[in-house]
Amino acid sequence: MTATPENLQPIGLKLSAQQALGRHLLACLPHEACGVLVGTAAAGGMRIDAYIPMRNVAPDPLHSFVPHPEDWVRALYADPAPIGLFHSHPHAQPLPSAADLQGLAALGNTFRIYLIGSPGTKETSSPVLKGYYIERSPDKNNKCAPRLIEATVYALLK
Ligand SMILES: [Zn+2]
Repeated sequence: MTATPENLQPIGLKLSAQQALGRHLLACLPHEACGVLVGTAAAGGMRIDAYIPMRNVAPDPLHSFVPHPEDWVRALYADPAPIGLFHSHPHAQPLPSAADLQGLAALGNTFRIYLIGSPGTKETSSPVLKGYYIERSPDKNNKCAPRLIEATVYALLK
């Protein structure tokens, strides 16, 4: 993931949303946590205002996530509609897995942001968060499968 277009805008995450997400990540350990992100496209990049946690009902929640259908439907009909999806990698780096990339095709076009978090190591006690834009335009080989492009995530203090 080194190809970051120069015009790619950073993802601003409201501090309260970041804290809610981090708390959910830690509360779900050792299982994966998942939830959706509510926000808007703002001047200077995407802005995430809130995090809505979802229950993970995957058969193997240690290594995968499947949102509870009730939570998922509620999230899809939330107003405003969610603009992003979050899940955690409790036992690995916050980098997209093959399954994560396959799952992108199931997300509606309102989903533009993809966040992955991991609990901090012993050295860094706070969770590590990586942010990506979901890119749906054809790539240079004319393949249309959605892919992830890494972006900078920063905390908005208000
Ligand atoms: Zn994953």
